[in-house]
Amino acid sequence: MLSGKLPKTFDPRKLARQGLQFEGTLALKQFEQLVACIADDQGEVSVFLHFYMSEDHRVVLEGRVEADLKMICQRCLGVTGVPVSTEFNLMGVWTDEQAKLLPEGFEPLMLQEEPMELVPLLEEELLLSLPIVAYHPPDVCQVQQSFTTDPDGADAAEEERTNPFRVLASLKTDSR
Ligand SMILES: [Zn+2]
Repeated sequence: MLSGKLPKTFDPRKLARQGLQFEGTLALKQFEQLVACIADDQGEVSVFLHFYMSEDHRVVLEGRVEADLKMICQRCLGVTGVPVSTEFNLMGVWTDEQAKLLPEGFEPLMLQEEPMELVPLLEEELLLSLPIVAYHPPDVCQVQQSFTTDPDGADAAEEERTNPFRVLASLKTDSR
């Protein structure tokens, strides 16, 4: 059951004890570090969060974030859409020692006395799932199109003649 609007700050222990779920959207603009890495700050991030207590009474946060981001295509330098979607399973810990001993499939959620901020937590997950470089799909990229319509494959022939490894290989055979 959904419990209402996404909390801006939250106490994971309290929400987990209540077993609360949240679903909503946040303006992409709020994710300043992420926006600095991409081509456009317009749009929304969809968020789903489920807090609960594990059988051994530990705080668990299961979540999903999705966004349609814009990045620069490194082939043609035009803007291309990059759909990003990531799921995470976090378990509350107080120390680095506890973080190292988490069960398989969980990442640590560092607990603290003060309320936790939602945006930085989600931003970290989004940054991790961001591709290092982005490209248009081949059939829509401007540059790729000019490659595939090359009529006589002249580039490939040129490559063959001047390939330095080929020259090296022939030198090796000669010296024997
Ligand atoms: Zn492109």
